[in-house]
Amino acid sequence: MTALETDLLKTRAYIDGRWVDADSGATFPVVDPASGETIAEVPRMGAAETRRAIEAAQRALPAWKHRTAKERARILRRLGDLMMERCDDLAALLVREQGKPLAEAKAEIAYAASFYEWFGEEAKRLDGGVIPRPLPDRRIVILKEAIGVTAGITPWNFPSAMPTRKSAPALAVGCTMVLKPAEQTPLSALAVAALAEEAGVPAGVFSIVTGDAADAPAIGGEMTSNPIVRKLGFTGSTEVGKLLMAQCAGQVKKVSLELGGNAPFIVFDDADLDEAVAGALMCKFRNSGQTCISANRFLVQDGIYDDFVAAFTEAVSKLQVADGFTEGAQVGPLIDAPAVAKVERHVANALESGAELLLGGSRIEGQFFQPSVLTGVTMDMAMSCEETFGPVAGINRFATEAEAVRIANDTPYGLSAYFYTRDLGRTWRVSEALEYGIVGINTGFVSSEVAPFGGMKESGIGREGSSYGVDDWVELKYLAMGGI
Ligand code: ADP
Repeated sequence: MTALETDLLKTRAYIDGRWVDADSGATFPVVDPASGETIAEVPRMGAAETRRAIEAAQRALPAWKHRTAKERARILRRLGDLMMERCDDLAALLVREQGKPLAEAKAEIAYAASFYEWFGEEAKRLDGGVIPRPLPDRRIVILKEAIGVTAGITPWNFPSAMPTRKSAPALAVGCTMVLKPAEQTPLSALAVAALAEEAGVPAGVFSIVTGDAADAPAIGGEMTSNPIVRKLGFTGSTEVGKLLMAQCAGQVKKVSLELGGNAPFIVFDDADLDEAVAGALMCKFRNSGQTCISANRFLVQDGIYDDFVAAFTEAVSKLQVADGFTEGAQVGPLIDAPAVAKVERHVANALESGAELLLGGSRIEGQFFQPSVLTGVTMDMAMSCEETFGPVAGINRFATEAEAVRIANDTPYGLSAYFYTRDLGRTWRVSEALEYGIVGINTGFVSSEVAPFGGMKESGIGREGSSYGVDDWVELKYLAMGGI
């Protein structure tokens, strides 16, 4: 089956409950990263269309906000259910525009859908508070209110889950949202919008504005300068996140930012070797290494180093590289040519600086890159300082726990970190010492709608998922009642 056969393939943007073209009529191509084929053309929009979507979101806000939480939850639950009913079509669309293996795409759709169920439920329990009075005639009441009109900007690596992870909490608490998906992968977000319409999300509550890379500054500029917008949720690079945060500062708009990571993956001498290898494979090669929580720096202790490197390299050599629709595919193509160029640059830089290549190291063809293992990858190499975002594992060794923690924290990023040990004391010490928002202990898989996802330091602000994730989309209002 090709994605092109599904009615969920939408090639117009979705604004104010209507499927629309750009004012200019211009479009840009969405390209299958596995074949280089153009699979669709979608509208190139700018500030004017974004403004209209924002104004529609403002018009839709009062009615949406004043529905009961249960009514909103019912619609969002229906949306999540529709996503699961249409999982095959959504997953196929995702593979076509993003390239990940079909099994991973299906897992992403389930993850994406789960946010609508979860946050619909959470919003029903969004209670306020009463604070004991500081004066005899006083009463203090705390309300939690929807922030209002919000904007979202999402990346290409999880084309379905990033739009749902932002829109679900926002819509659940009564906000409305205008979202711009990444130029590489607009189709999954448009498909979610189509199902949102079917589920009964009213016109204007959730609009999708599309644009090419060159249009992003104008769309983002309108989102961050229009006073109607009270909050921006962004997932993407730290560089663009900082820019958008600076733009939002002009009107003190609230921001939630999920930015880059530089995840250490630490294997201590007492780790379970098989578990560590399995976790490393998952953590490094899922989505071809293109996740912000992908292991980016492998640190392996002296005593287990040789065994880990041998077992890991052996396991990596068995990974099946193929387009996402091939049965058994484990590593798909990279998203685009610049992504491949970056991985090539990182490998070349490491080898020039003295690293040793144990496996892979080259592009296969098109945007496919060999699963690769390098050792002697020190912390000054590009691969250790920047996110590689590719199927390349750089390994270095260490002697002591203190050294591992020092190296792990020696980065401006603080999204996710992983370590393997069976020692209880070390588990606590290292967990507490790591300056990361997410710490995987004896696991390489940490994403769940029930857990707070987000980073410390330059990896971001705010949390997505879990009951904590609701807080990012509400304002506290303090009612000071006197004369009682
Ligand atoms: P990545 O490296 O994952 O592509 P980016 O930060 O470049 O990360 O892109 C993430 C999202 O941010 C995409 O939707 C992209 O179009 C958008 N984007 C990039 N530059 C800007 C900008 N100047 N203003 C608003 N959005 C932008």
